[in-house]
Amino acid sequence: GQPLVFDMVYDKHMNRKEMENTVKQILETESWNHRSPDPFHIHFCSLQTEGPFHKELIKRYKEAWDKLLVTATEKAHVEMFPKDKLVYLTADSRNEMKAYEHDKIYIIGSIVDKCMQPGLSLANAKRLNLRTARLPLEKYLHWEIGNKNLTLDQMIRILLTLKNTGDWKAALEFVPKRKYGGFVNTQHHSRIKLELLGEKKV
Ligand code: SAM
Repeated sequence: GQPLVFDMVYDKHMNRKEMENTVKQILETESWNHRSPDPFHIHFCSLQTEGPFHKELIKRYKEAWDKLLVTATEKAHVEMFPKDKLVYLTADSRNEMKAYEHDKIYIIGSIVDKCMQPGLSLANAKRLNLRTARLPLEKYLHWEIGNKNLTLDQMIRILLTLKNTGDWKAALEFVPKRKYGGFVNTQHHSRIKLELLGEKKV
């Protein structure tokens, strides 16, 4: 399957609660992936043996840890894969993701930060000179005020749907409804415009 990287370098940026939350989301992520007819080959990169992430993962998974269909490695993504194949996903990217690319290796930052550290994953990607991309949320959804950072389980459900259908609308159904005011409907827009033009004529 297509590799998907979880970048495990963020343990120092999280408190205990946030770390527990992240691992909980990773468990959900793995289970969504598992259930897919065409799953990703998940890689936990930069996972330090006996480090905080490793310990929490083992505590949660217990004996299931060794049976997981993931590759866990201390190596960084840039040591595992060619740089030109890697795309770091981050809400702070200037590049809007256009089409889903089956030959790219997407990287997700394994971080849940309640106290909001904007630009953390973007800074990491920039330091390593990696391509970045953000989901086209504003293009498809009427975005309200909420921040655009999605959780890890939402991210994998979106990516799995894109991978299997290429359908942005179906994929973005996994963005929590409270975050936006409906899908952008271009047909509807042009009809309103026509109606307005019609009214002017009268
Ligand atoms: N402050 C964190 C940061 O610096 O990215 C927010 C982390 S976010 C909760 C967890 C990860 O999900 C991000 O590192 C990114 O890989 C991915 N992600 C979340 N929302 C995204 C979006 N709108 N577009 C692209 N990737 C996103």
